Amino acid sequence: MRKLDNKTLIVASHNAGKIREIRDLIGPLGFEAKSAADLNFIEPDETGTTFEENAAIKALASAKASGLPALSDDSGLAIDALDGAPGVYTANWAEREDGSRDFAMAMQKVEDALQEKGAKTPSERTARFVSVLCLAWPDGHVELFRGEVEGFVVWPPRGGQGFGYDPVFQPKGYETTFGEMSADEKHGWKPGDEEALSHRARAFKIFAETCLGA
Ligand code: IMP
Repeated sequence: MRKLDNKTLIVASHNAGKIREIRDLIGPLGFEAKSAADLNFIEPDETGTTFEENAAIKALASAKASGLPALSDDSGLAIDALDGAPGVYTANWAEREDGSRDFAMAMQKVEDALQEKGAKTPSERTARFVSVLCLAWPDGHVELFRGEVEGFVVWPPRGGQGFGYDPVFQPKGYETTFGEMSADEKHGWKPGDEEALSHRARAFKIFAETCLGA
């Protein structure tokens, strides 16, 4: 496992919600994070069929463009009743014809698909959020870290915090959706903490412990 010595890390993302969460996680570890969006890097096409492949595509594109190590996140919501959909296509379900993203529409699509399957009770609506973080170096070396959180899809959406599908995801053992949680409750983690809740924070914990010596 290659360690990260550099104190500047490129966050290989154009998604404001993800960039904010990764900044919250990396800031206390003494890193300066510059995002691919801040640096006007072009967004590579996500042509992979797994979270791992797409995470590597994004991290390698930013590492090569910047000459610095880059950290990407590829993530999505996998719903059991929909055979794992939307999965790696979670962002695509929010895409409008003009290329913009509409998550109210995406959450409604998920609900319509669940209704079509007759999935009404929480046990019929189980799902997990998955995040694969990829740390890539300009020489092409990559390390991958996966985090998952189990829960179920609720309807109607609840809460205005977070981003994306947060208002319809209620983690197992909690009464609130990610959309109703504070940033700290959803993705807070610092070195020494035994646990993290969100998929991204769980993947980050493994990354920090293995590559940053946290
Ligand atoms: P991608 O990783 O760029 O392919 O996009 C992942 C999609 O999953 C995004 O459009 C997000 O809306 C959704 N997603 C990933 N993580 C979260 C999360 O923590 N909360 C809500 N939605 C998420």
